Amino acid sequence: MLTVFGSTALDTIRTPKKVLKDVLGGAATFAAISASFFTKPSLIAVVGEDFPKKYHNILKAHLDLRGLSVLNGKTFRYDGKYDKTLSVRKTLKTELNVLGDFKPSVPEEYKKSDFVYLANNDPEQNAKIIKEFDNVRFSMCDTIEFWIMTKKNSVIKMMKSVDAVVINDEEARLLTKEQNLITCAKKIMDWGPKYIVIKKGEHGSLLFHEDVIFSSVGFSLKSVLDPTGAGDSFAGAMIGYLASKKKTNFSEIKKSVVYGNVMGSFAVERYGINGLTRLKRSDITKRLKQYEKMVTF
Ligand code: AMP
Repeated sequence: MLTVFGSTALDTIRTPKKVLKDVLGGAATFAAISASFFTKPSLIAVVGEDFPKKYHNILKAHLDLRGLSVLNGKTFRYDGKYDKTLSVRKTLKTELNVLGDFKPSVPEEYKKSDFVYLANNDPEQNAKIIKEFDNVRFSMCDTIEFWIMTKKNSVIKMMKSVDAVVINDEEARLLTKEQNLITCAKKIMDWGPKYIVIKKGEHGSLLFHEDVIFSSVGFSLKSVLDPTGAGDSFAGAMIGYLASKKKTNFSEIKKSVVYGNVMGSFAVERYGINGLTRLKRSDITKRLKQYEKMVTF
């Protein structure tokens, strides 16, 4: 069983071609919906009373929502703007709203989850909630610049409590104050997690475990519309795949990273969550085959 905890948001996303206002987003949203193509994830998250019914229905179609709280107040909001290459995003606003003083707890029905993903969220909440599960077999977490800048020590503490850290290259540099990605990964591994995945956007990712580095390319695309949530979709696919196989050995973790690249590529092809919600399982199988062709020689 897989539980995903993290932000559920109303995002304002400014791309060169289009501005999306208050659309369904959040790290847990992307991660859990991505994972739902492999297993049925349980979500722990919070939204405000302003969270639209149509977005609630999208979550309901993919996820177990017994852990979703609706509180008095406004939903977490994120506002970000991409440059013309779509590879650099500037955060314009982060409004925590109901997420700010959320006191999450794990519903009884979720306590048996053996796979747990702590999506991008307040690292103090993440570190607290992971302790409430009865028997976690494999856990992963992610973070973002906002938390590294405001709660760095808590980010490190959260990382000590998981098996794997998934983080993008710029955030890995910011967190460790190192430039070389191998050095960044080693430093994070020294804090405790056994696996580190450094995501490099369209260029794929590096998976580190002990002295091994597994490098995987991104799936090459002609048209990218909105990269928001690609990293979360990547991580969701990884843990969703592992939970579906009920395996956590290194060879399966490598395969999960390939699924991560494939699901990340779907996420960026359409605006917002549409890259994932319109997918069929057969699209994933087909793209996996194309990916295999792309990297085999
Ligand atoms: P990504 O593009 O993978 O970095 O993920 C973007 C998603 O993360 C957006 O849908 C945002 O709602 C969410 N997000 C942005 N900033 C934060 C934050 N400080 N804490 C939690 N989630 C966030």
